[in-house]
Amino acid sequence: MNDKGIAHLEKESGSPIYLLRGKMVLPEGLAQDGLLAWTEGKIIYAGSPEGLPSSIRNQAVSVPVPDGGVIVPGFIDIHVHGGYGEDFMDASQEVLDKITSFHSTQGTTAMLATSMTAPKDRLDRVLAEVDRYRSKLMPYAQLEGVHLEGPFFSPKWPGAQNPEHIVLPNVSWLAEWEKEYPGLIRQVTLAPEREGALEVIAWLRQQRITAALGHTDATYEEVERAIEAGLHHAVHTYNAMTPLHHRNPGAAGAVLSDSRISAEVIADGIHVHPAAISILAQLKQSADQLVLITDAMSAAGLEDGEYKIGDLPVIVKEGVARLKDGGALAGSTLTMIRGFRYLVQDVGMSLSATSRAASLTPARLLGIDHRTGSLAAGKQADIVLLNQKLGIEGVWIKGRMIGG
Ligand SMILES: [Zn+2]
Repeated sequence: MNDKGIAHLEKESGSPIYLLRGKMVLPEGLAQDGLLAWTEGKIIYAGSPEGLPSSIRNQAVSVPVPDGGVIVPGFIDIHVHGGYGEDFMDASQEVLDKITSFHSTQGTTAMLATSMTAPKDRLDRVLAEVDRYRSKLMPYAQLEGVHLEGPFFSPKWPGAQNPEHIVLPNVSWLAEWEKEYPGLIRQVTLAPEREGALEVIAWLRQQRITAALGHTDATYEEVERAIEAGLHHAVHTYNAMTPLHHRNPGAAGAVLSDSRISAEVIADGIHVHPAAISILAQLKQSADQLVLITDAMSAAGLEDGEYKIGDLPVIVKEGVARLKDGGALAGSTLTMIRGFRYLVQDVGMSLSATSRAASLTPARLLGIDHRTGSLAAGKQADIVLLNQKLGIEGVWIKGRMIGG
């Protein structure tokens, strides 16, 4: 983009209009030659180049697209604990800037600040900080709210969550938080077999907060009962849940077989075998119920070394994060663009199915698909430009170029 051109346009029409032309994932599928126009943070046209009114074309600035480049909607990560040395559990305004800034360079345009199993006062603080951050103009990936991952878990499947702080599900904490910060909590992950869980799930349904299963020892039947109560999502499918056995299908079997439940997957090649991702994708992608997440912890974007997840020490070796004590996988060092690339190149998913798993499906879960999650006129200009190798070339959040 040249400065002169932009200045000239601003003089003529107030705000510049930007154009991207190339291979593009539109809501109806992959277009080999698509055109996208946006101004003042909003998409004003997405479709075939011939359909663009010449009045727009004549005053627009074209953004260069590399040969073989692909234009996709910005990624929405509903399960991410941190990055670039910081953890949402240590939330301060500076920490939130650092995490959202790092992930925005990796294609993430919106995310849920994801907490961990911790004492209530620690969770209080995370909610207060995220709420304060959201009340101002957010310069990087938009924090759409909080995902409470725990503390209502099974002590049998803590993963990297500190089992000392696991408690039984209770509505009273959630109701108190909802009153103090209306609409801030967007997802609650719990073990549906625990005492009090069904009551919490019913309450979450009433509040239109996603009730998700995770870190659970539930049987297939217990998950089915929870789905009847309103549970409709599963975090990091296959990880930290009862596995599929053909005579005892477990929580994983319920997630795979029940069309009422959407499913997250950590596509880093470490947490889940590509064949298991492929099975999940074949069952979930056509119903738009597959959700790509990172589950990234603080070491995402940094070198191997010693870190923490929540308050537990972690060693990262060759990009794999494990608890120092016991060696359980401790989140990932994944980013959305690496997960995107893995689904296309290693699992063999199409660009448009992968894009839906990374953008539109999580937007629908959050109830924000009317304003983001796909490239369509009227929506926010949340855009990722990729090169032929599916590396990041540019990211725009509400029309503003990140790092540009
Ligand atoms: Zn987890």
